[in-house]
Amino acid sequence: MTNNIKIIYKEFKTALNKLKYPDSWFWARYTTNPYSGCGHACIYCDARSNRYYLEQDFENEVIVKSNFDVILEQTIRRSRTLLPDVVGPGGVSDAYQPIEAEIKNTQKLLEVFQKYKFPINIATKSKLITRDIDILQKIAKDTWCTVGFSITSMDQDLVNFLEPFSSPTSERLKALKYIKENAPNIQVGTYFMPIIPFLEDDDDNIEGVIKESKNAGADFILFSPGLTLRDSQANFFIDKLKNSKYKEVVKPILDLFKGKNYPPAQYARKMHSTLYKLANDYKIPIRVKRWIPKDYRKWNYKVSEHLLNEEYIGSVVHGKSNNNMKWAGLNLNNLKESILDVYKRGALKSLDNFNSEVINIVEPFIKNAKDLTKKRGIEHYL
Ligand code: SF4
Repeated sequence: MTNNIKIIYKEFKTALNKLKYPDSWFWARYTTNPYSGCGHACIYCDARSNRYYLEQDFENEVIVKSNFDVILEQTIRRSRTLLPDVVGPGGVSDAYQPIEAEIKNTQKLLEVFQKYKFPINIATKSKLITRDIDILQKIAKDTWCTVGFSITSMDQDLVNFLEPFSSPTSERLKALKYIKENAPNIQVGTYFMPIIPFLEDDDDNIEGVIKESKNAGADFILFSPGLTLRDSQANFFIDKLKNSKYKEVVKPILDLFKGKNYPPAQYARKMHSTLYKLANDYKIPIRVKRWIPKDYRKWNYKVSEHLLNEEYIGSVVHGKSNNNMKWAGLNLNNLKESILDVYKRGALKSLDNFNSEVINIVEPFIKNAKDLTKKRGIEHYL
């Protein structure tokens, strides 16, 4: 099914946004949005909230960014400071929304990223991504490529209501399987988020999504019960529910959220424990394996991944996050020398947020690193 959206062409000055820290879910350090707005028009989409300041009517208009690949290539070529790192296309729009079939902005930008050897992590609800399997495969061979399909329900009637213009769940799973079988270098999996309370959080649905992802060959499943309810996005979603056959869930959802933007911690803890157990039962990793550069950042990224994953598992299993460990892991991404050199100087505790708890985790992790015996200097980690 497609919707009739108005397409507006507009040229923007920037094509790549660098994040201060990577996110520990998708490992993206850069974001890029070849479109503004999204023809998938999911009724819960957070992009409808006021904080994104989208300048168009989200439901009915999509801005196509003209000359996006040209501007992107100029940005990369002219910059002396842009090191290749993971790019997350999309964000508040799906890079493979229906008009991409014709406009090909995403395909063109992938060609640029492939040329300059930037790794990629794409999340989508569309099978259209399989069109670009050759480019994605090249990126995976040169650096790293991850594709995640957002899949949250096995009930297609419900999916038609929540995500009216996306590929059906069965086609997303087919696309996942196709990539797994035809491009084994690509890391492929499922983004099980957001899980809509009282519609998608029952045990049968949770097990169904995990089981079918496993059957399709998923390398990972990332889950989050974090549906948001914010200002205009919340109003739109609740109105849609009220006027549908799912109207009986409106009161329970509002009672659960109690006027807040997120479901309460107690609900998240309960969901995490169910999801964690089932992912373990089906033997699917719950983290995306990170891209590791070959330059001086190599061990900084490895250690950062280790700390951030430890912190995440601790918060999922014990319901308690460890803010200091999280920041120790995040800050490492901005270190301008290798952590191995810091270790050799006996100066780990000089690093931001490296308290004794963090050092006790990091030391055993790096002390047998083969790279430790190499001489100091960036070129020795290449
Ligand atoms: S695919 Fe993503 S960005 Fe597009 S409408 Fe759905 S939730 Fe929003």
